[in-house]
Amino acid sequence: MAIRVRFAPSPTGELHVGGARTALYNWLWARQDGGVFILRIEDTDLARSERRFTEGIVDALRWLELDWDELYFQSDRLPLYRRYVEALLEKGLAYPCFCTPDELAARRRDRLARGQIPEYDGHCRRLTEAERARYLAAGRRPAIRFRVPEEAKATAFSDFLRGEVRFRRLTTGDFVIQKSDGTPTYNLACVVDDHEMGITHVLRAEDHLSNTPKQIWLYEAFGWESPRFGHLSMILGPDRKKLSKRHGATSVEALRAQGFLPEAVVNHLALLGWSPGTGQEVFTRDELVGAFSLRQVQLSPQVYDLQKLRWLNRQHLLRLPPEELLARARPFLGGVAAGVARDRLLAALDAVRPAIATLTELAAHPDLAVLLRPPDLPPEVRAELAAAAAPRILEAVLARLPRSLGRDDLRPLVQAVADEVGVPRTHVFHALRLALTGRPEGMELALVCAVLGADEVRARLELALEGEGRHG
Ligand code: GLU
Ligand code: ZN
Repeated sequence: MAIRVRFAPSPTGELHVGGARTALYNWLWARQDGGVFILRIEDTDLARSERRFTEGIVDALRWLELDWDELYFQSDRLPLYRRYVEALLEKGLAYPCFCTPDELAARRRDRLARGQIPEYDGHCRRLTEAERARYLAAGRRPAIRFRVPEEAKATAFSDFLRGEVRFRRLTTGDFVIQKSDGTPTYNLACVVDDHEMGITHVLRAEDHLSNTPKQIWLYEAFGWESPRFGHLSMILGPDRKKLSKRHGATSVEALRAQGFLPEAVVNHLALLGWSPGTGQEVFTRDELVGAFSLRQVQLSPQVYDLQKLRWLNRQHLLRLPPEELLARARPFLGGVAAGVARDRLLAALDAVRPAIATLTELAAHPDLAVLLRPPDLPPEVRAELAAAAAPRILEAVLARLPRSLGRDDLRPLVQAVADEVGVPRTHVFHALRLALTGRPEGMELALVCAVLGADEVRARLELALEGEGRHG
């Protein structure tokens, strides 16, 4: 039977690296297996969920090209969860809890003071009908708690990645499955949906490990077969602390804005907990679908490394055909590219790309601006171009400029000019660079000339000579 797996983000923030990896692994597994990949937005927490976060997560997944086969919003399914909570109430497997947050907090403090586990103390477990009626009459809206069976508290389950996971004693009293506003909690909605959606395998990160026994008790209470559970390792920052904002861009949105390619992000995410065992590091999406295997998943914590991502991004950038590079770079170019001929743009991006790791760096690279339009020569550059042999050098270059200027044509030209003017070659290179780019350093000059072409080189040299006042 084909697997049915899901990614179930809560829209309470951006899609972060950890969530994106969970999504990717589920997606890869489904795509490999002819299975079904479900996207389920867990937006029942009305106070913390925001529409803009849902949109951001959906956009980020689209950008990563992790396409889903089915999409659900839990907020569309509230009556369903209510029905199932009712069913548990009827069976006596759940009960209303009228405790207020203040009362709960006070009793929690008491338990702590007495050295007890600060779990729910079961206060409302045995309320009589009359007591319930009194609370209701006093206007209290109850939450609904699941009655955790005593024998369930020492629990083990078999994790399909980790093998047997055993909990000696879970510090969980009867937990809330429906809040006093009538919305379900995560564990309840998750179980109902994983069941209703026919999920065969729940693959998620280690931080949910302690939810799994609660969910298994719920399956038992409903009389349902539970899916199989597998928990991935956590992702840490390079300092081996829990990944957070301190570690730089950790949301997919931020990585996108910084000019990372989706294929590089996917590549890096895949390697955060999976290793092909062949030493290969650069993978296309298709290669990943072919090579990925849960059997090679690593359970040790994984280090998210922006330097590694930058390296991968470079590799993927270098592989793009020039047209594709332009398409990807376009949104980052802004004004720099305005009015520039397409051929020049293609050649310039191609020439600058070995020097950069991200599309933002490409767009902001000083060499790019210089290749796209004539520079404004700063006063000190003008002064230098007017002094000593510089004007003669530029004149001599102009006089000898061939009709077409390939990358190999510059060296002989410079040599000839140096001989003619009687200066070292470096002086010729320097004057030319200043006149063409307005800066004393930058990419290989022969490449600058090849991208600009003979006509543009001529125009810029004439401009530099004019500015220097000779024809004024
Ligand atoms: N909404 C939960 C989260 O974002 C889903 C956890 C799960 O996969 O069950 O952490
Ligand atoms: Zn209570």
